[in-house]
Amino acid sequence: MQNESVDVLIIGAGPSGAVSAAYLFKQGLKVKVVEKSKFPRFVIGESLLPRCMDHFEEVGLLEELKKRNYEVKAGARFMRGDKICNFDFSKKFTEGWDWTWQVPRADFDKTLTDTLEGWGVDIDFEKEVVGVDFNGSDSITTIKDIDGSLSAISAKFIVDSSGHGRVLPRLLDLDKPSDIGRHSSIFTHVKDSKRPQGREGTIITFDIVSLETWLWVIPFSNGYTSIGFVGPSDYIESFQGSHTEKLREMMKLSEYYFDRFDGLEYEFEPVIIKNIAKSVKKLYGEGFVLTGNSAEFLDPVFSSGVTFATESSLVASKLIAKQLAGETVDWEKEYAEYMKEGVNVFATYVKEWYTGNLQTIFFDSNDNPTIKAQICAVLAGYVWDKENPFVKNHHRLVKTVARIAEMEKEADKSIG
Ligand code: FAD
Repeated sequence: MQNESVDVLIIGAGPSGAVSAAYLFKQGLKVKVVEKSKFPRFVIGESLLPRCMDHFEEVGLLEELKKRNYEVKAGARFMRGDKICNFDFSKKFTEGWDWTWQVPRADFDKTLTDTLEGWGVDIDFEKEVVGVDFNGSDSITTIKDIDGSLSAISAKFIVDSSGHGRVLPRLLDLDKPSDIGRHSSIFTHVKDSKRPQGREGTIITFDIVSLETWLWVIPFSNGYTSIGFVGPSDYIESFQGSHTEKLREMMKLSEYYFDRFDGLEYEFEPVIIKNIAKSVKKLYGEGFVLTGNSAEFLDPVFSSGVTFATESSLVASKLIAKQLAGETVDWEKEYAEYMKEGVNVFATYVKEWYTGNLQTIFFDSNDNPTIKAQICAVLAGYVWDKENPFVKNHHRLVKTVARIAEMEKEADKSIG
């Protein structure tokens, strides 16, 4: 079996793997990326957060992405019946990027890997990681080629950025059940031929059809739009027929969007992902680290997936470079605790979305601009800013503000 030796092996060439490869390559390390698919390939995760722009900029990938003219996302719209809540990233509490993009991931991820290959980064497509053996922090990883032949790669460190593939969690038995509720999703793309002119046609929207079920509408600059529902797994499964029939039936739940998408052909048979939330027993071990979706995934409601993927891979890569340069790294403190801080903030928002507390705040008619700016910073992905009370006190503040909003509503009713 052919054997190759590298400093760092990166499993998966999604945004997480790409950011890691970019950083480590620029540090002069011998990096290899192994990717199961041939790019471009479809993957879900199309609405980005401003925070991830920092990551792409820091590793030098932003300029090539800018050339693709993706649809600019300057905020997000949430709607429930006739109630609307708009977030504008330029009005957020925390300093930082006030825009990002809505991206067809096939093109976005290919742009990242083309850029890396242009720099000379070694990426092997259509090669699947099927096994790994550790000897201390050194490892030998077995790779299966598309024709079934096997090869091996020795590495001083492995970054598992395999996303939904969850390579090391599966091989090392690291998976654990998530404490986020059991939700599933069904989605596709359409050629948005009835797209309205102007902002209405391009704004990203979350249409809340019931407490736990919502539709995303993510228009792209190429004229296509991503549509998808998230809801309790049992509920999504209760719709009958093929995936196309299920999604067509679900689209009737959205009074606002039904006409726009009615009769349009689905670009591909809608995909269903069951029980979306994922978690792991640990985020790192001797000689490896889990980044991106391979580590943790909460829920798509606040579009945090790619941003956590790039935040985690950038932080991890800096620590790997430090360790390989002979410095001591406290992985628990510098990686796991740091990442968990951010994940915990978002986990609170996801949980409070589905309890209804956050929806109470979003759709409260007595809009408070200070509170809105602070929540907006969280939704932009700036979840490590302890100056923001909605970050620092996330556990109780959402509940408290929702309670006050309810009380005010009651008082208004009794006065009125
Ligand atoms: P990925 O982008 O999944 O890339 C992993 C790569 O690893 C893939 O290319 C895969 O082929 C490769 N791979 C897998 N197994 C192997 C193997 N054995 N060997 C080699 N390579 C392998 N996030 C957002 O930010 N915004 C959203 O709007 C959003 N919506 C979502 C909606 C749904 C329904 C779901 C389920 C998720 C959503 N996400 C969203 C999350 C988003 O999909 C992920 O967080 C994001 O793609 C993670 O990037 P990544 O680089 O970790 O993994």
